[in-house]
Amino acid sequence: MVQTRDWRALVRPAIEGLDPYVWEISSAEVAARFGVPVERVVRFDTNTSPFAPIHLGGALGEFGTTMPLNEYPDTSYGPIVSRLCRYTGLLEDRIVVGCGADEILDLTVRVFVESGKRVVVSRPSYAMYPVLVQAYGGVLIAVSDREPFRRDVAALIAAGRSADLLLLCNPNNPTGDLVGRDDIERIVREVACPVAVDEAYFEFSGVTVADLTDRYPNLVVIRTLSKAFSLAGLRVGYALASESMAELLNRVRPPNSVGSLSIALAAAALDALDVMRANVAAILAEKERFTASVGPYVEAIFPTATNFLFLRVESPERVVAALLRNGLVVRDLSARPGMRGCLRVTVRRSEENDRFVAALASVA
Ligand code: PMP
Repeated sequence: MVQTRDWRALVRPAIEGLDPYVWEISSAEVAARFGVPVERVVRFDTNTSPFAPIHLGGALGEFGTTMPLNEYPDTSYGPIVSRLCRYTGLLEDRIVVGCGADEILDLTVRVFVESGKRVVVSRPSYAMYPVLVQAYGGVLIAVSDREPFRRDVAALIAAGRSADLLLLCNPNNPTGDLVGRDDIERIVREVACPVAVDEAYFEFSGVTVADLTDRYPNLVVIRTLSKAFSLAGLRVGYALASESMAELLNRVRPPNSVGSLSIALAAAALDALDVMRANVAAILAEKERFTASVGPYVEAIFPTATNFLFLRVESPERVVAALLRNGLVVRDLSARPGMRGCLRVTVRRSEENDRFVAALASVA
């Protein structure tokens, strides 16, 4: 049955009623609009220092001379947004940039969740979801996977019908499970509440529902430059959504959570998509080799659509200790319900992966 709920009615009244922060006009826009060369634009509006941060000396390299770090970055993150338009095919008013996918998740929860609101997640999933939901006073409704670690789409839909928000990680962290596009479309259509699909690992799975935001205003797709683009240290993530959803996220977005250096470097990375794609291909090829060499030493390896392996070992304490003795750190999920012995292992360079296999073999 298709529901006819109005997702827009699920926006918190406090957010629906608030006066959004009015962004400062960017220097580039002043220059374009008023015909002043951009280097002649002076910010008397932001209470910043007129002095360049020369105490940083050579640490900034070429950026020290070309980037006005004493000023705030352009709050619309124009250089990133224009490139994301090219990368995703969406228009700029449907893209929201933030400090990592984590900030975009935070904005999403902030718009819809307050005391008593019901948020559906699959279990297990990304550990930040319960933290965010609880922080905003929401009630977490965790829908357990069907064995072995595959999402239960029918149960998610059933729970989502009376929910105020549904958060779906696709492919899932930590299991690597991928829900197909048709199933996601069914979820988005049938639950009718806001649905956030976290595609942090999209470049590895190759599967996206970003295009469905054309048709489903209740859908928001969340992505990051932290994984495939090799830029976790920059802290850049983004949302792809309907105009209406993007406008809501922008209402609660801090104006300057992404720094100027991050903006410049993210823009450069988005100009080099071929490099990102070659890296993804190399990681996926190495994943095959790594999976094969790990195989003999583990109880099970579950298929993943990501840049990590998800596996189960018989004695996690011994394995994790042996790995740590060699300086190798994995995500041990043993403490989570039904996940004894489960480890999440990132695919790294082949020499590093060989060290992992050798340490694992030493336990066997
Ligand atoms: N979502 C998922 C599923 C993740 O695995 C991560 C990174 N651990 C994030 C979001 C956060 O990404 P970012 O570094 O962009 O904040």
